Amino acid sequence: MAVTRRQFMKVSAAGLAASSVGALGFAGAGDALAAGVRPFKLERATETRNTCPYCSVSCGVLIYSMGDKSKNAKSSIIHIEGDPDHPVSRGTLCPRGAAALDFVKSPLRLKYPMHRKPGSEKFERVTWDFALDRIATLMKDDRDKNFIAKNRDGVTVNRWLTTGFFGTSAQSNEAGYLVYKLARSTGILALENQARI
Ligand code: SF4
Repeated sequence: MAVTRRQFMKVSAAGLAASSVGALGFAGAGDALAAGVRPFKLERATETRNTCPYCSVSCGVLIYSMGDKSKNAKSSIIHIEGDPDHPVSRGTLCPRGAAALDFVKSPLRLKYPMHRKPGSEKFERVTWDFALDRIATLMKDDRDKNFIAKNRDGVTVNRWLTTGFFGTSAQSNEAGYLVYKLARSTGILALENQARI
């Protein structure tokens, strides 16, 4: 019979309590105590496997949420911990990953593209279409102005030094490869990644 991690925790907690009482000579009390043990608090939560977004170690996390099934309550993440079955981290997390719940719940968390108009003091939410068009337009304008095809000696260099490109450590190898190809195909040399910050 396959035993899930949650079932294992529940059975272990009840078994430990019962055996401890039994060892003290209250054999009959063991069953009653085991029946009264509070259910594992994550028993009813939805468990989702994911990857810590902070650095390129890419530790595995288990994300527990409540409230989505019946549509009566808004889904909300209540707990995040290391994934013991993950081949990279085996359940461990550094302090940043262990505090990922604060990142999810932070009022300062950036969830949408934001734009600050020239001269304005505040950022405003914009659509992805607007943001991507704006970025593409600014990149093209800058590249048209500053692209260097040849250096002073007439050697072809095809470089663009006035714009940088920033990748992420939370993407796959394949996505990283595409980011690299995109940036280098435009002549960008300043290609960085959050994993080194
Ligand atoms: S920030 Fe920490 S927990 Fe997250 S992937 Fe890196 S080492 Fe792992």
